[in-house]
Amino acid sequence: MQKQGVTIGSSMDAVITPESVLSSVVRITEQRSQQHLEDSLVATLADLADLPFCAICRPTQTAAGIFIDYVAIKAAPGQDVPESMAEIGNDMLLLQCMATGGSHDMVLPDGAIRRAQAVVDDRGTVCAFLVTVSAPEQAGKQALVDGFAAIYRNYLAILRDAARDTLTGLKNRKTFDENFSRIVASSRHFELPYAGDRRNSHLDGDHHWLGMIDIDHFKRVNDSFGHVFGDEVLLLLAALMRKAFRGEDLLFRFGGEEFVVMLAPTTFANAQAVFDRFRATVASFPFPQVGKVTVSIGFVRIQSDDLPSVVIGNADKALYYAKEHGRDQVCSYEQLIDEGGLSVERRAGDDIELFA
Ligand code: GH3
Ligand code: MG
Ligand code: MG
Repeated sequence: MQKQGVTIGSSMDAVITPESVLSSVVRITEQRSQQHLEDSLVATLADLADLPFCAICRPTQTAAGIFIDYVAIKAAPGQDVPESMAEIGNDMLLLQCMATGGSHDMVLPDGAIRRAQAVVDDRGTVCAFLVTVSAPEQAGKQALVDGFAAIYRNYLAILRDAARDTLTGLKNRKTFDENFSRIVASSRHFELPYAGDRRNSHLDGDHHWLGMIDIDHFKRVNDSFGHVFGDEVLLLLAALMRKAFRGEDLLFRFGGEEFVVMLAPTTFANAQAVFDRFRATVASFPFPQVGKVTVSIGFVRIQSDDLPSVVIGNADKALYYAKEHGRDQVCSYEQLIDEGGLSVERRAGDDIELFA
């Protein structure tokens, strides 16, 4: 018996059945990373609805404007493949979607319909676009495309929730572990060929920096005012972090009263100034009921061949030094090594050992 379905694309005779839609949804929702989700959705939707073009792109806000980054594309031969990182103004359809947060269509010279749908996150920000091209005779397939856009939006929200700490909304430790290598690999771009005294090379050029922030005597806050006020301090601290650091800097709650910031590439002097400004902001902020709260910060340069455990370990050593030497201060791991506050001891065949 022939299955009931909708014929799409007169030449292809592809048939969409409830079973094929379901198995496509299953395939897409099996994915556990955003990149895999996007690749799978684009490939599945293009295949299922027999679309000549299907893509997901994201707007990237920079000081120079909004640029469009295509993160997943499935295009039939002969289809125009968009240039990556073009300014949004070059694509009127995306510009329209960005402005309205909705979906818009345009008719291409050959009669095909190009549709873009903005995907809006829970803060009302457009975080992606689903872009499709369908042949004129495929007009009936738009409901299918819209349905997949809705699945994408909902699933993205689930992935985003899983990546965040529930109390503060900052990124969680799992997200740090999953993204560290990618972020560090991008720092290769900033590393100049080594010339001169390597020990002082951290004083030159732009690098990523990792700062570990720990609230001073937080146990006393809980003991004196109770957990509810303790949680309030954590929430306010996260809000102060969002205000003090830039959009390109990544903010994490590692657990308890410990936070991590990965600074976008900058100089040593800037990194130190940024962390110290944050420390001073916290120290002067009147926390309701609790009053004054201070933080200690240890920070370290990230190099492209660094392992996350080593970077975290070194930031922790600088943080420990700050705690041991009065708290409410910022310490640089490299500076402590240079100035002898921390020392590196090498023994043949041994790992590097450090002593405070
Ligand atoms: P130090 O200056 O050496 O960092 O002292 P501290 O008291 O901040 O450090 P310690 O690690 O001894 O205590 C951390 C406290 O943080 C203990 C724990 O009760 C509290 N804490 C951890 N997670 C949470 C949380 O989610 N909410 C609240 N209210 N307290 C938390
Ligand atoms: Mg603490
Ligand atoms: Mg701690």
